[in-house]
Amino acid sequence: MSARVIDGKLVAAAVRGEVADAVKALVASGKRPPGLATIIVGDDPASAVYVANKHKACEEVGFVGFHNELESSATEDQIGDVINRLNADPAVDGILLQLPLPSHLEAGSLTETISPAKDVDGLTPTSAGLLSLGRKGLRPCTPLGVVELLDREGVDLNGSNVVILGRSALVGKPLAALLLERNATVTICHSRTKNLQAVCCQADVLVAAVGVPELVKGDWVKQGATVIDVGINRVDGGLVGDVDYEAAAEFACCITPVPGGVGPMTIAMLLRNTLAAYGESS
Ligand code: NAD
Repeated sequence: MSARVIDGKLVAAAVRGEVADAVKALVASGKRPPGLATIIVGDDPASAVYVANKHKACEEVGFVGFHNELESSATEDQIGDVINRLNADPAVDGILLQLPLPSHLEAGSLTETISPAKDVDGLTPTSAGLLSLGRKGLRPCTPLGVVELLDREGVDLNGSNVVILGRSALVGKPLAALLLERNATVTICHSRTKNLQAVCCQADVLVAAVGVPELVKGDWVKQGATVIDVGINRVDGGLVGDVDYEAAAEFACCITPVPGGVGPMTIAMLLRNTLAAYGESS
């Protein structure tokens, strides 16, 4: 293996440290700390772990956490009431509705009721529209984390060929918009793209966000490219990404591992978004 490893844990710790310093300074000047509210509906064990991790991260940087738990039988009106209460609460800067929701609920319409000013996940239609128009707003956390990793690694995006595998509203599409803002030439690939390998081979920066274990092979990577693996796939032996890591590392100049690459960045960027939402409201 010749590629440099991009250490997402290290970068995430640095971002969290910066947020914690900013909160200390706010509190020292007599201001209230930022507040992040989570809403979890039902008892999905994976969601419970994600939400617990977010609260732990909140506490560590000095945010106030507001946890809201609803039974899996909760109605859209009941959840809407909680969201409206949090929208109106001046101590709450960010609201996070943990997905997936139980199957009788419509995630899209509930997410829409979150005030765009508190949409720290960056997933409401208003936030998506602002991003697409290149206007100020809160951006989705995982794509923000990818850009942060590229910046801290010193990757020059200006005019570079970026190929993104995956066109989801959560990762691929918003990442493409963020990278266009940075003057990259962006190609988005998806499950119907023809000659995927040939397209990937053109990439100076190759981002995989497909959810297919080790789809990207070593010979899909241009010599000296930067490879960012967003995928998290559970297989027999544990977690793997969307990139065949060992093989890709033979060609790449730098590469993110799974776990320990993009994963830790998502919560770090959620904290930064909450601080930004606080800044806009105060
Ligand atoms: P998604 O299922 O919503 O979208 C997958 C995309 O990949 C689709 O656009 C689809 O067209 C494309 N695709 C699927 N198979 C393909 C193939 N064979 N060739 C080319 N394109 C193909 O998934 P998502 O929510 O965007 O997540 C993608 C991956 O990223 C998953 O593994 C997910 O677990 C992971 N993820 C990680 C984080 C993180 O914090 N690190 C956050 C979000 C998602």
